[in-house]
Amino acid sequence: MFTAARTSAFTGLRNASTNAFRQQQSRGLKIIAILYKGGDAAKQEPRLLGTVENELGLRPWLESQGHEFLVSDDKEGPNSFLQKNIVDADVVITTPFHPGYINAELLAKAKNLKACVTAGVGSDHVDLNAAVEKGVEVLEVTGSNVTSVAEHVVMSMLVLVRNFVPAHEMIERGDWQVSDIARNAFDLEGKVIGTIGAGRIGYRVLQRLLPFSPNELLYYDYAALPEEASKAVGASRVEDLKEFVSKCDIVTVNAPLHEGTRNLINADLLQHFKPGAWLVNTARGAICNAEDVAAAVKSGQLRGYAGDVWNVQPAPKEHPWRYMKNPLGGGNGMVPHYSGTTLDAQKRYAEGTKEILSNFFTGKPQNPANVIIGRKGYETKSYGQR
Ligand code: NAD
Repeated sequence: MFTAARTSAFTGLRNASTNAFRQQQSRGLKIIAILYKGGDAAKQEPRLLGTVENELGLRPWLESQGHEFLVSDDKEGPNSFLQKNIVDADVVITTPFHPGYINAELLAKAKNLKACVTAGVGSDHVDLNAAVEKGVEVLEVTGSNVTSVAEHVVMSMLVLVRNFVPAHEMIERGDWQVSDIARNAFDLEGKVIGTIGAGRIGYRVLQRLLPFSPNELLYYDYAALPEEASKAVGASRVEDLKEFVSKCDIVTVNAPLHEGTRNLINADLLQHFKPGAWLVNTARGAICNAEDVAAAVKSGQLRGYAGDVWNVQPAPKEHPWRYMKNPLGGGNGMVPHYSGTTLDAQKRYAEGTKEILSNFFTGKPQNPANVIIGRKGYETKSYGQR
């Protein structure tokens, strides 16, 4: 009964000529969400909206409209909540912080699925090409956490360049040996700093670096910045990636994960980095080869690596990025995936998710910036050149 009602609801939703009719017909959709468990923190802090406990604040609103809303963190394996419930779900919501991986196999099983909504930025957890084939829309809350991430990138650069982590660990151990830290501590001032990807986050990073008086700011991106924007930050474009990395003291990655960026930073490219350069990646873990980066830190080819994104999330206990150190015992600025999930950001992406769903229910056009895959395929220009 419920499925039949939902199926006819969707047929109506596609064909409806008025918003009111769509609203009425869209009653009774099955919406599932994969979020991370918030535990006691989520019970004590209601602004932790992106958690299983606080459900993006969506439940009262969704249920008041007659929709079924199921939420879980259980996303891996054949008996997981995600695998079992995607079969007849109309909409899947997930966050990049605890991504429900929606691969081609899962999409094939998802008979009623019309939209995957990312509560945040970055929709690579969905097989986008398979979504195009299946006619499933992929929508995200573009821009919702870009400032949060840009701040984290600049912090990570400082953490690495100033050799902060070993300095703090020394204090906690009860030791005091300034030279052990200062032998590998530098200033941001005077460095050549470059971003792979100069979109919303990459550009904000460049803006925030200017007051540190770098020697030069560079970017590598197939889309050139508008002239005025590049002038405003004094950034120069380098079109060859090997040449780009060979010029930088610090490289930061701010491009989405897609066919053209997966495994982009590997042993081969790392050889072209300046010896002792720093690398900061808050974009996606799989853009960097985990073993190759760990080996480069261990050898000192990279003086350090920092970021919050991992090729598998949650990262397994034995992941090399948890423990890698440079030859002087520092150079690791890794944290769990949280740069884009500050409480400020959670408010923005929860509101944005509600707006996307509201447009979806009523047939109102989505904000074009939020559409990764639309009804006719790729609408974003950020996931590779097509
Ligand atoms: P954006 O779409 O505004 O900018 C991405 C830029 O990358 C574009 O200018 C695009 O042309 C460029 N690009 C794409 N492929 C490239 C390639 N092969 N080489 C060089 N440049 C390339 O996106 P954004 O808002 O700046 O976000 C970028 C990414 O950051 C997201 O896709 C997401 O993966 C990640 N992100 C991480 C967090 C976090 O919490 N760690 C939060 C938000 C976003």
